[in-house]
Amino acid sequence: MAMDMSWFDELESRIPHGEVRTRFAPSPTGYMHVGNLRTALYTYLIARHAGGKFLLRIEDTDQGRLVGDAVDVIYATTRQCGLDWDEGPDVGGPVGPYIQTERRHLYKKYAELLVEKGLAYYCFCEKTESAEDSGNFEKAEDPCRSLAPERLKELMFDAEMGRRPHPVIRQRIPQGNTTFHDAVYGDITVDNADLDDQILIKSDGLPTYNFANVIDDHLMGITHVVRGAEYLSSAPKYNLLYEAFGWEIPTYVHCSSVMFNDPATGVVRKMSKRCGDPSYQDLVAQGYLSQAVVNYVSLLGWAPHGDIAEQEFFTMDELIRAFEIEGISKSPSAFDMDKLNYFNAAYLRALPPEEFAREAEPWIRRAVKNEAYDAAAIAALLQARCEKLSDIPEKVDFFDALPEYGVDLFTNKKSKTNSEVSLEMLQQVCPVLEALPDWSQDAIHGALVGLAEKLSVKNATLMWPVRIAAAGKAVTPGGAVEICRILGRDETLRRLKLGLEKLGG
Ligand code: GLU
Repeated sequence: MAMDMSWFDELESRIPHGEVRTRFAPSPTGYMHVGNLRTALYTYLIARHAGGKFLLRIEDTDQGRLVGDAVDVIYATTRQCGLDWDEGPDVGGPVGPYIQTERRHLYKKYAELLVEKGLAYYCFCEKTESAEDSGNFEKAEDPCRSLAPERLKELMFDAEMGRRPHPVIRQRIPQGNTTFHDAVYGDITVDNADLDDQILIKSDGLPTYNFANVIDDHLMGITHVVRGAEYLSSAPKYNLLYEAFGWEIPTYVHCSSVMFNDPATGVVRKMSKRCGDPSYQDLVAQGYLSQAVVNYVSLLGWAPHGDIAEQEFFTMDELIRAFEIEGISKSPSAFDMDKLNYFNAAYLRALPPEEFAREAEPWIRRAVKNEAYDAAAIAALLQARCEKLSDIPEKVDFFDALPEYGVDLFTNKKSKTNSEVSLEMLQQVCPVLEALPDWSQDAIHGALVGLAEKLSVKNATLMWPVRIAAAGKAVTPGGAVEICRILGRDETLRRLKLGLEKLGG
């Protein structure tokens, strides 16, 4: 049966040339884990660094593994991380559609082309067809590899008549060796005897991921295929497919695994959602800023060089300028929560105060329900004092309800306070604050400092008991003055008087 080559020519004619084109090709099987995010980021940076195009392609041919809202999560996450795509399912582009199931009519024709060339074959053996497990059959023993034309015709006829399932199409792996080049791992040679005759087209006519990715990367003009190192072992088979079609082989960029430095056990292991390691969404839900996560993730397995070799903090534009494939490491990298905390704290501190207040407010309101307490004022106390937004509720819970606390908190060596001193300080402070005409930061500060001077004590000797009585906690964001200001005069005095009672006053 002769193929209509004009159909192929039309598709070929749509392929853009002369620019770097990369794609992020997630399978909508769940949340975006950190390794995925890093792959997406590097893919994006390679395209942007070269002034090329970044594509989004949804790989959904493995229908059994799809998860309901996973596509929406992919869109949202990729956008939230600042990885804007030039072509994709929602924005279209010259080589669409960009969702594999919408391209289902393409793949079989390409597989049939390979069958014609003798580089693939119909296989009627009833064995597992799952994409991951296509090769538990010794290919030398597979009778379908060398079916006589007459027998093939008979079997095909039977399948058409519904007397047996439709055949799959398998890649015919030739004898010899396959060598391919990876931009990170260098030249890799494998013995073809170790490669299985993988399924290209399943019995239902849909392609396996292993076939679809090659067809799509070619038809979409992808110049750099960036993916996780778990695909390294499949790369020779993909390479053989490119060769079988006579297509230009893209630059492969395999990214090493992301390991997880488990803070609970101290064990370093492959990062995995199944072990409960955080996904990107989990991190955002825990109060990490997207930019901080992206910045930290960029350095998991990539390093800048030259005069910026020591630089840690990068905006997206700086990453685009600095990112070179040569900087990608083949050693696995370890995701470390402490390091992420360090990045996040720095990003939180660098936010304009209004923006920090906007980010912090929902977290403050988890603990501070009393609207009379100004969230922006509380946020100002927190900006320099939290590593992640989820630290906030526990730090500000004392505003709504004064915790139970013991008198021992009034004793502090550095501030030269003990119960007696604290009692005296609070006795002095209450009438001064009661009489204060104006409940502003400056007024409260001026009054307390003035009183300390009058009493000839260190400021800390007076501030310590005020803060303990106002907050009921040894560690608080902000000092006595700020806390009293936010609590307001009445509540401050109520709490100071409770403190006095505790001290026997
Ligand atoms: N759909 C594959 C995945 O999500 C993509 C691998 C690739 O980039 O080719 O793992």
